[in-house]
Amino acid sequence: MGGSAVSRLIAISNRVAVPKAGKSAGGLAVGVLSALAEHGGIWFGWSGKTTETEPSETKRSRSGKIEFVTIDLNADDFEAYYNGFSNNSLWPLLHFMLGYFSFRRSQYAAYCRVNEFFARRLIPILEPDDLIWVHDYHLFPLGASLRQAGVVQPIGFFLHVPFPNFDVLRALPCYTQILNALAAYNVVGFQTDRDLWSFQDCMTQPEIGGRLHDDGRITAFGRTFKAEVFPIGIDVEECQRVAVENFENEELMRLGASLENRKLIIGVDRLDYSKGLELRFRGFETLLESYPATRGCVTFMQIAPPTRAGVRTYDQIRGELEKAAGNINGRFAQIDWMPIRYLNRGYSRELLMAIFRRAAVGLVTPIRDGMNLVAKEYVASQDPKDPGVPVLSTLCGAARELTDAVLVNPFDRQGVADGLQKAIEMPLHERRAIHASMIATLRKNDIHAWTRRFIESLSTP
Ligand code: ADP
Repeated sequence: MGGSAVSRLIAISNRVAVPKAGKSAGGLAVGVLSALAEHGGIWFGWSGKTTETEPSETKRSRSGKIEFVTIDLNADDFEAYYNGFSNNSLWPLLHFMLGYFSFRRSQYAAYCRVNEFFARRLIPILEPDDLIWVHDYHLFPLGASLRQAGVVQPIGFFLHVPFPNFDVLRALPCYTQILNALAAYNVVGFQTDRDLWSFQDCMTQPEIGGRLHDDGRITAFGRTFKAEVFPIGIDVEECQRVAVENFENEELMRLGASLENRKLIIGVDRLDYSKGLELRFRGFETLLESYPATRGCVTFMQIAPPTRAGVRTYDQIRGELEKAAGNINGRFAQIDWMPIRYLNRGYSRELLMAIFRRAAVGLVTPIRDGMNLVAKEYVASQDPKDPGVPVLSTLCGAARELTDAVLVNPFDRQGVADGLQKAIEMPLHERRAIHASMIATLRKNDIHAWTRRFIESLSTP
């Protein structure tokens, strides 16, 4: 569609990530940024600042084709909306992890209040031809708040995380309100067909009473809307270029020298319980146990910067992970070899892509993930002449596309170990063949295709 499109794009997400060198960004930020960089438009959301009093004016800044419009939030509301309902109710629920799930009515009330506040601050900047694209679970009710205020422009919603089946969803006391809110959009987008099927199943439950039409539209709560799959992709060429450009920088040289010809297994994730990091460490431990020849010959480097610090479960998994790394290193280390290098910090995108290219294996084993862009970036960063192999969890969206990766169930330690061994030993001709087919898939569903398809769907009644 390109920058000359008639309509202006307004992307809205909880957090606006004004790009900064060396800062780590989540999958959502990477996606929204690429979409806006191509299409041009406004990125609206929270500034990252909270205030004790009434939040101040909306702030605007510009970088190239993107205008950033940010708002501050009241500190108490933010705590209940973000750490409370978004991250202690919705995040675990949507990742099928009811063991971490909790619910408080007051937090849900704050969540609705913050969404209404987003709507109030957004309305003055809207123009009649705008296309409004709302991102992720923090903002389920935003479309409904905008409609209530009389907004008639097309509004789309994309869920970056999984959508659970009805029996998981109904653990949430206000699940009907959430489904009702989603019916206010013109288009509701998901990462994979499985997420869409769950959503269709929820909407057509007898107590919800929705109807699925032959063309895929759904009628529920008195509205008819589209529900479709838009797997988020990456900028394949950009990843390749960045990986090549940084492959010989000083840090990569130091990494290369320190490996002393050992094969590198790389893991890169936000420190989150959905990423299955402790299980991953244990899977690597099982590799060392079951395949003794790997001892001293492979190095597993896990990069995992802390997120949501101060939230109890996150501090807890950080502690558990440090313990597991220490334990495995203590058990297997040799005077000149440390099996696991665990780096508890973020790295620049430039360095990450180059490290991916250096790694013989990309170990990506979330226990639940909407897509997982790291898996795609790992594949895109490889040298086609001598590519590394992704070992990928069956329980993430990326596994629906990267079917030629070595697929493992992250709960099965022995399975992860066997998958690692298979990747380590994979002959060059096979590595080249699976890499070529995976790259073709990544190109077909790249970030530009994702943007284009969503905007096309939103622009067509
Ligand atoms: P999530 O959105 O759950 O964090 P994804 O794998 O979909 O998971 O996206 C993560 C994005 O953030 C990727 O683009 C990845 O390169 C980036 N990223 C993850 N960890 C780091 C890190 N330690 N430093 C810099 N960028 C990171």
